[in-house]
Amino acid sequence: MAGLLSGGALPLFSFRGIAVRLHWSFALLPAYVLYSDLHDGDAWGSIAMHLGMVGITFACVVLHEFGHALTARRYGIGTKSITLLPIGGVAALERMPEEPRQEFWITVAGPAVNLAIALLAVLLMAALGLTAFFTDLFLGGASAFTNLLLFLAAINVWLFLFNLIPAFPMDGGRILRSALALRMPRVKATRIAANLGRAVAIGGMAYGLLQGEPMLALVGFFVFTAAGAEARQAEQREGLRGITVEQVMRTLFWSTGASTTVRQAAQQLLQGGDKAVVVVGLDGQPQGVLHKRDIIHAVEAGHADLRLVDLPPRTAPVIAPHDDAHECVQRMLQSGLPLLPVVQDRRLVGVLELENLDEYLKLRRAQGGAEVSSGMS
Ligand SMILES: [Zn+2]
Repeated sequence: MAGLLSGGALPLFSFRGIAVRLHWSFALLPAYVLYSDLHDGDAWGSIAMHLGMVGITFACVVLHEFGHALTARRYGIGTKSITLLPIGGVAALERMPEEPRQEFWITVAGPAVNLAIALLAVLLMAALGLTAFFTDLFLGGASAFTNLLLFLAAINVWLFLFNLIPAFPMDGGRILRSALALRMPRVKATRIAANLGRAVAIGGMAYGLLQGEPMLALVGFFVFTAAGAEARQAEQREGLRGITVEQVMRTLFWSTGASTTVRQAAQQLLQGGDKAVVVVGLDGQPQGVLHKRDIIHAVEAGHADLRLVDLPPRTAPVIAPHDDAHECVQRMLQSGLPLLPVVQDRRLVGVLELENLDEYLKLRRAQGGAEVSSGMS
């Protein structure tokens, strides 16, 4: 879903340093409600009520995502943002912990929030008095407040159950993966959870299309794609165990001096730049990393004559050739940078980059496969 999320999003508010944003496609949801209500000839009063229900539902979705995000924080994992899509919310955690117990608690915290809201609504209804409640309900004229509580209870029970469907990477699937990972390797656990997730997703898509539930079909589609991507990623990370940075680093890369101007860097970018450039000080030590888009933005902002060191470059954790590749990838993901500079004897000797890792693993697998087949013949 990362690709989908990179588009425009409207910042709504921030809580505990986590920005909540509305993805542009979210507008499709109220538009769809409005369209189908007008099509059915509903009164404006009930249209407003339906839109209000959408608003309340997504407020509960935001609380669910904060359940994940704030639990992750307890394990030292930050959350970049929470984005609302028409099909639900996504909390962009810096990383998912590889420790099954931590993943379990972070995942369970989301649905637990919905269960808590539902229980609270039921308790409030009980406190209002069951007699009054049933009189209201059966004699018509149920108060707006009772209706609101009923809706809150119902929608949160639904959110709770829906998220627990074991379709990885939905919450239920993650809980399953973490439970399996307690007794088997994480890659195998992920593969099982992802296959089940894809099967459930196909069922959901088929049901959604046949029964005319476009939202369900859409959710099924995203679950299907995301399950495959996560399974591949887990396999990739696992393949890096026991490998040093030196084995997978790129020794041909783009670097430039700290006194290079933005204009010169833009020229270098055109002549064959990379996704990012390592900015090197006079002492040969890396000063930081600049994204390609940082340079383009600086040109757009009229800062072409500024030196790169004054932009300034983003601070990058420095790693060494003999460091563990698996651990360094975790650090790279936390930093949010596309690559990390590798330094040996105070000299920049390479960069570690995700794409290159992917190629390394593919080649290694291809070579491994060739060995097996030659051994068989
Ligand atoms: Zn969740």
